[in-house]
Amino acid sequence: MVRVRVFDSRGELVGPVESPKVELSDDQWRQRLTPQQFEVLRSKGTERPFCGTLLDNKQQGVYTCAGCGLPLFSSDAKFNSGTGWPSFFQPIANENVATEHDDSHGMRRTEILCARCDGHLGHVFDDGPRPTGLRFCLNSESLNFTPSEQLASLADPILESVAAARQPAASGHNPKAGPSAAEEIAVFAGGCFWCTEAAFAQLAGVLDVESGYAGGTAETANYEDVCTGQTGHAEAIRIRYNPATISFAQLLDVFFDAHDPTQLNRQGNDVGTQYRSAILFADEPQRRAAEAKIAELAAARAFPRPIVTTLEPLAAFYPAEEYHQDYAEKNPNQPYVRYHSLPKACAVREKHPELMRGAASH
Ligand SMILES: [Zn+2]
Repeated sequence: MVRVRVFDSRGELVGPVESPKVELSDDQWRQRLTPQQFEVLRSKGTERPFCGTLLDNKQQGVYTCAGCGLPLFSSDAKFNSGTGWPSFFQPIANENVATEHDDSHGMRRTEILCARCDGHLGHVFDDGPRPTGLRFCLNSESLNFTPSEQLASLADPILESVAAARQPAASGHNPKAGPSAAEEIAVFAGGCFWCTEAAFAQLAGVLDVESGYAGGTAETANYEDVCTGQTGHAEAIRIRYNPATISFAQLLDVFFDAHDPTQLNRQGNDVGTQYRSAILFADEPQRRAAEAKIAELAAARAFPRPIVTTLEPLAAFYPAEEYHQDYAEKNPNQPYVRYHSLPKACAVREKHPELMRGAASH
């Protein structure tokens, strides 16, 4: 099984949902694919540059795996790299595109594959444009294109089986409990991750908070490199939460109370782009919610200075080294934690008592 995001019958990307891997014999693949598609997807071939049918496609829409139909890239992230192959700066969902080291042809490269059928797509390089700095270099033959107005036609059959599997639970003893809501993620950067992690870990509906790095590439996603301020990463946290208990908007409220969103590329004495204030949105609804919240706070003059928080599409989140995880909880007497992290968690607790774990629900 693999966890992926798919389109539903309204043409919206949903998930992640569990989907079985698509595993076929070479003969079965040959029946399903054209010889050119087979050469790329199953034999890891590369089409000649400037020859692919999708290179110059400028229509709005979604690119799916030609092998199994999994959505892989959106036209929103397509750019002209000049290389002769269709290029994107991020996948439509991180879950859907897998990576693997590839040392073939005397080069050190990172191969990209469809997460569901392991079809070869191309390679990813770290010389892409902002905001991710990544260049996903694709073969047209590995992709099919669906225009925006036809996204409902991509509705994945796996959703019907997911819905069917949920039926018994929904009709169980608790009539109030609807179908179990999928858990969601939010990624925020608000200065030192020891502080932000502590602020969110105490909230009801938050299943897990992980410290890590976002905004840069995998090669430099480690504490030592990120501390130089040269890698493009921000210290960030990834929150797994149950949207039935706490909403993304409520998480945003806590985010803006747990740090100072008016300081550009710093939080107090922590200075550098790695300490920038950023909301790394996972999808369009999150982006819109974040914009609305910032507009609301600005209109209410909630801060004495303008909010400088950036909105960045979430390309990848790299968990930090193990010793950074739950740092404030494990090191409550460490001076930085005592004087910076815990007071922020405490301020959130005072301002939002109703959101705390164990608070009386109503
Ligand atoms: Zn596939």
